[in-house]
Amino acid sequence: MLTATNKNKMIPAAKMQHRGGDSELLRKHACLNRMQIPSHLPPPTIVAASSQVANSSDAETSAAVARHLELHLGLFEIGRPLGKGKFGRVYLARHRTSGYICALKVLNKDEIKRERAEMHVRREIEVHSNLRHPGIVGFYGWFHDSRRIFLILEYAAGGELYKTLQKEGRFSERRAANYIAQVALSLIYLHSKNVMHRDMKPENILIGLYSELKLSDFGYSVHAPSNRRDTLCGTLDYLPPEMLQSDKPEYTKAVDQWTLGVLTYEFLTGEAPFEDTVAMTHRRILKNHMKPLPASLSPEAKDFVHSVGDFTPILIL
Ligand code: AMP
Repeated sequence: MLTATNKNKMIPAAKMQHRGGDSELLRKHACLNRMQIPSHLPPPTIVAASSQVANSSDAETSAAVARHLELHLGLFEIGRPLGKGKFGRVYLARHRTSGYICALKVLNKDEIKRERAEMHVRREIEVHSNLRHPGIVGFYGWFHDSRRIFLILEYAAGGELYKTLQKEGRFSERRAANYIAQVALSLIYLHSKNVMHRDMKPENILIGLYSELKLSDFGYSVHAPSNRRDTLCGTLDYLPPEMLQSDKPEYTKAVDQWTLGVLTYEFLTGEAPFEDTVAMTHRRILKNHMKPLPASLSPEAKDFVHSVGDFTPILIL
């Protein structure tokens, strides 16, 4: 389950005006209430909606399915595409009756099936729908039709942090520190909910209306109360050594902390610390052999990168 890294190496595994104003107020007025999806809800990908309701003996599941069936595409005016993900596109959308602007993530069921990623999508919905934090893209609800699954998300008006970093080359120490502090707060929240993100990278960090950062894409996330996982997943450049040490790695939520060090390095220099050919990146990570940091950086910045990379549990939550 390894994904492509920063639009470079691959490895296995309508125009619409933003309606200004206070986003919290809009959020309150929106009639798209976040729904709790019971953990035993069958994957939304395979079973037709009607049979899900008819065959379910579980009242709670039926109620949840019925509630998400109340949402449908006709409720939204679809705007310009915001980006492309693994199984489909994300569009700007407006909820017709409330005027609430959101992002509609459309996942193609056939593609999900072809990739045998039903569990993956189910997990994304389960994990994301249970999170609520200013540093995490809001999840308002989901629904599906015969071909697609739709996730209704908070619109992150500033787009991907990845694109901003590419445009600006690198960030000043002050800005990098500010960004890392924000991501760290989101991580503290995630970890307090026993969720590991496992795929943090600049592409998965979006920028909100007020330039605040928001973690997104919970496709590789997992709810792990035991704090122990063994699946190799994520994006090579950002993986910690313990994930690469064997075919059956054992790791904890500290994997996200390692990535925080990688992100700090990337914010300060514009490139990931171990970026190389696939084989070399692998080797470099195992040896913790990062490319040298520019001499112009302050000792504090260098120390921070090295201490997070050295696994000093500064963030263990
Ligand atoms: P994803 O499938 O979640 O990786 O999303 C694909 C791309 O769509 C992202 O890289 C963003 O550029 C864009 N995108 C996803 N979610 C949002 C959102 N909530 N607000 C704005 N743009 C988004």
